[in-house]
Amino acid sequence: GYASGVRKVTLIPGDGIGPEISAAVQKIFTAAKVPIEWEAVDVTPVRGPDGKFGIPQAAIDSVNTNKIGLKGPLMTPVGKGHRSLNLALRKEFNLYANVRPCRSLVGYKTLYDDVDVVTIRENTEGEYSGIEHEIVDGVVQSIKLITEDASRRVAEYAFQYAKNNNRKKVTVVHKANIMRMSDGLFLRCVRETAQKYPEIQFEERYLDTVCLNMSRNRAKYDVLVMPNLYGDILSDMCAGLVGGLGLTPSGNMGLNGALFESVHGTAPDIAGKDLANPTALLLSAVMMLRHMELNSYADKIEAAAFAVIAEGKYLTGDLGGKAKCSEFTNEICSKL
Ligand code: NAD
Repeated sequence: GYASGVRKVTLIPGDGIGPEISAAVQKIFTAAKVPIEWEAVDVTPVRGPDGKFGIPQAAIDSVNTNKIGLKGPLMTPVGKGHRSLNLALRKEFNLYANVRPCRSLVGYKTLYDDVDVVTIRENTEGEYSGIEHEIVDGVVQSIKLITEDASRRVAEYAFQYAKNNNRKKVTVVHKANIMRMSDGLFLRCVRETAQKYPEIQFEERYLDTVCLNMSRNRAKYDVLVMPNLYGDILSDMCAGLVGGLGLTPSGNMGLNGALFESVHGTAPDIAGKDLANPTALLLSAVMMLRHMELNSYADKIEAAAFAVIAEGKYLTGDLGGKAKCSEFTNEICSKL
């Protein structure tokens, strides 16, 4: 299993601040003596035999072999003919579920200080299936595709996640009152999956109700599972409750492996200046460790990072401090 021996992990450092925050994570992992070996790969698109640009084969092979990866932010080139690299990675590795834990941090004051929810978003279909057409001039149609396979797959993941992470409850978020067939199918699949996990509490809630309650009483929710579009919106809203995307980690579960990444972008305004906050990528790496069943290392690293933030002496600029990325990183290392 995952727990024995040194395992290889693919590292995609990314663009902009990516290399700096990746180096910070590597340094912290070394300090914590995490039994993994990094395999750094470059995903800058290369021209293939068919003349089209794509992810280098070596990077694809690395993720397919190691089945686990950590990824920094990637720049999306502006202009025609460039497909988003993030989208290409999602397709290449069949990343079907996006997981985002959102928790208020002690020492960093935000709008709400009692948030502790995890959003799990179906990531392959729904409103984002990309099936759209014009029927007649001025009338377009967009297909919301929901399948039993994809719905069961993400439902199963949500309950497994709840079980493995000591979560008490799963809420399915839907609008089956309006979209009776599509959301109805999604809802039925999650409901049936819930029966296999009697130890996890289960509830069904309308999307609008969840949004309203989230702003009044966050404690009502724990793990939330939902179709693509709702997940896209609700996960950003939850990140906003705890102070934005800069601290938010995420995981993408695939059929053949998993890819963990920070939610923020390449921060071109501060790249190369040793000013970036590596916390989001570090917490993504911590999620990765839990996925690999290396929980004791995950707990240790997370506690050290939270302690440094709570003490408030070495905070990066985005958190209102003056510390450099390297100073914040060193402080976490010395705690370890
Ligand atoms: P951004 O997240 O890069 O930056 C927004 C603001 O937040 C900037 O002021 C930046 O300095 C700050 N910031 C972001 N991360 C930070 C960190 N770790 N520490 C301190 N400050 C941080 O968003 P953007 O400017 O809209 O996008 C820049 C580039 O990143 C674009 O090319 C975009 O396509 C790409 N992007 C990639 C991903 C991804 O790979 N997952 C996600 C979002 C954006």
